[in-house]
Amino acid sequence: MNNATQLKRKFLPDGQLFIGGQWRNAASGATMPCFDPTTEEIVATVAKGDAGDADAAVQAAYKAFEEGPWGRMHHEERAKILFRIADLLDERAQEFALREAMDMGMPYRDFLSIIMPHCSGLFRFFGGLAMQMNGGYRTSYSPEIRILTRREPLGVVAAITPFNFPLALSVSKIAPALAAGNTVVHKPASDTPLSALAIAQIMADAGVPEGVYNLVTGPGGSVGDALITHPLVEKVAFTGSTSVGQNLIRKSADTLKHTTMELGGKSPNIVFADADLETAVTTSFWAIFWNKGEVCVAGSRLLVERPIYDEFVEKLAKMASEAVLGDPLDDATMVGPMASKNEFDKVMEYVEDGKNTARLIAGGESWKLNGKGLFIQPTVFADATNDLKISREEIFGPVIPVIPFEGEDEAIRLANQTRYGLASGIQTGDLAKALRLADRIKAGTVWLNTWHQYHPNAPFGGYKMSGYGREQGAEALENYTQYKTIWANLGVHPTMSSTAHSSSGH
Ligand code: NAP
Repeated sequence: MNNATQLKRKFLPDGQLFIGGQWRNAASGATMPCFDPTTEEIVATVAKGDAGDADAAVQAAYKAFEEGPWGRMHHEERAKILFRIADLLDERAQEFALREAMDMGMPYRDFLSIIMPHCSGLFRFFGGLAMQMNGGYRTSYSPEIRILTRREPLGVVAAITPFNFPLALSVSKIAPALAAGNTVVHKPASDTPLSALAIAQIMADAGVPEGVYNLVTGPGGSVGDALITHPLVEKVAFTGSTSVGQNLIRKSADTLKHTTMELGGKSPNIVFADADLETAVTTSFWAIFWNKGEVCVAGSRLLVERPIYDEFVEKLAKMASEAVLGDPLDDATMVGPMASKNEFDKVMEYVEDGKNTARLIAGGESWKLNGKGLFIQPTVFADATNDLKISREEIFGPVIPVIPFEGEDEAIRLANQTRYGLASGIQTGDLAKALRLADRIKAGTVWLNTWHQYHPNAPFGGYKMSGYGREQGAEALENYTQYKTIWANLGVHPTMSSTAHSSSGH
């Protein structure tokens, strides 16, 4: 039993909205419940905001951007606050781990060892970049004309985040947005809002000026819709499903918003016969079953070369059958429950579909802990083909179709035969082959002989229908800044562009 099990589940205080530096109820007074997917009991209620609350948050963020100190603050001061946020995240790591375990069934141990260091690291990384928000100096046609560039924030950023990895996918937007001097209105997923409440408290405790970070919990159809159509919102940073992302792009077009889209995936994991078999099986297991498959970059289409296919699927099935399902607060747990009943039902539909179209060799059933919980057994379907529904569509659960292939060209053809392009991986003993083939895969991330590696300095994002824009890495700041060009005439006589051109002989 670990530290977390001693912490135990607890009923959290009512969650409110955080607008203009103040905690407050939704204007309507409405609330919504949060369910623990392990016990299927309510563990908290949070404010159910609506379009009016979203407007109040945008107004507060706009005022903070236009009149507040944040955008004008010396870059070093802003960086210091971001570093303080990072320290507070680390200090409160166990609190966040408990919230994510109770909210979305994330194994507590994985949160502490993988997610939290990444999240505090993101604030440190972008805190460092805040100090490099420099403009530049360019030469012009005329010595009397000087060109200066300034890199400026965009304004109010709406951060709309999904139910999985609630902290990490919020931080990957909030950290670069704040580093660049923007202000933020955050709408977390309705199924998993508990981390966002703790983020808001950290913002207050770290000295983030009022109105710079605002939190509105509530349904996507009202709060989210109000944000993406609001004329004072300059940018929408979205992570979620491709269909909601498409809808959001259409709706945000009227006010011509900057958008970044981190969307769905169906990421191919290619295993060649020359891979170390035991390592490849273990890597492939975690590629799909980590966080019970509720991972956008899960290796959710497994392509295995013919000569090792039978032995590989047998070993994978064994590992899947022996995986420990259980309470995410228990260190022994490998696979926790689905985050919500909706997700559970959706994934079980795919499992039933798979039973009719491929060969079930592990799992295939739901599971209960003490008679409760939204668990699904790690499920492996052998002899799948790339055109099956379970191979084409994003299942977002612990379900893997395993497809045989022969040779490099067929592997790449099958890997790229998808509308998505988020992540991918190659398992092989031949690194030269791996690097050569990595160039041919159409995806934003390629993992060679590994999976689920993340770093604040490594750009992350999708190709094709998996979205556009990059989070993490210095590249992310491009999505939160714009450039202004200032032309200065140093001469005594007024000049126009035509005189400037003629003076340099053009
Ligand atoms: P989702 O249903 O698309 O919801 C994402 C967010 O959008 C939620 O906050 C949701 O609010 C909100 N929303 C829903 N309808 C809206 C509308 N009409 N207008 C504005 N906002 C709206 O996605 P999800 O089920 O939470 O997350 C799973 C999906 O996210 C998967 O497809 C996964 O691949 C993708 N994902 C991608 C990445 C990546 O980095 N590429 C990372 C993680 C997840 P409500 O919760 O209130 O409905």
